[in-house]
Amino acid sequence: VLAVAAVLAAGGCSGRAPKPAALGGDAAGRSGEPSAVNASPSGSLPATAPAAVAARLVFHGDERVRKVALTFDLCEVPSKPSGFDQKLVDVLIDENAPATFMMGGHWAETHAQDAKFLANVAFFEIGNHSYAHRHPTRITAEGFRREIEAAQAAITQVTGRAPRVFRFPYGEHDAVTVAKVASEGLVPVQWSVETGDPDPKVSAAAILGAVRHGTRNGSIIIMHANGRGWHSAEALPKVIAWLRGQGYELVTVSELLGTSAGQ
Ligand SMILES: [Zn+2]
Repeated sequence: VLAVAAVLAAGGCSGRAPKPAALGGDAAGRSGEPSAVNASPSGSLPATAPAAVAARLVFHGDERVRKVALTFDLCEVPSKPSGFDQKLVDVLIDENAPATFMMGGHWAETHAQDAKFLANVAFFEIGNHSYAHRHPTRITAEGFRREIEAAQAAITQVTGRAPRVFRFPYGEHDAVTVAKVASEGLVPVQWSVETGDPDPKVSAAAILGAVRHGTRNGSIIIMHANGRGWHSAEALPKVIAWLRGQGYELVTVSELLGTSAGQ
């Protein structure tokens, strides 16, 4: 489990994207999923177990259904302002391509117009990507709770939409933080296909290659829309065309997980 966490943690929004050879998010995610939480040696999840959301980390959707979810992280560490990739979003809109944006709370506040723009597109879902992109397992439980709740409040305030899914900054998690996210009523969502787009050296062709290599039924594909997905806008038309050519339906994460009511 720790190895899985380490692999996944390498792919967050830190700019420390793994090399293409390390596109193991898929294999690692799949093999690690069933035991990601249950294998915790502690075996003691908080008593505040969620009523509505299972304390289980999601890596992908139903493998029997030919649907996939494109996800785009909008990370922002307050000391390092990020941007907004309007060109990428325009591609999604032109293609009528549903997508899920994992939005940082601080990002929402510093990019309020962009956040509202995204929220006004009916086939986009807005997820919670914490407030200040702190390392979830390196801060206190109380600090992590504030990261979740401050982001939920900021995103809801700015966009009028309340996220129902959560993505860990850096993909960094453990059994306790997964349980905390669930107890806040959010579904913790990792990914199964890593494009490596925070690395400027990862070309559009490499991004397409990663998608072609890693995608299967139920895949959750991670990219970035905060200006740090260097070649994602360039890759996206071909990525969408290839996915649809293979018969995949693009859906939001919540729809992929069968929990799309609302949003
Ligand atoms: Zn991030």
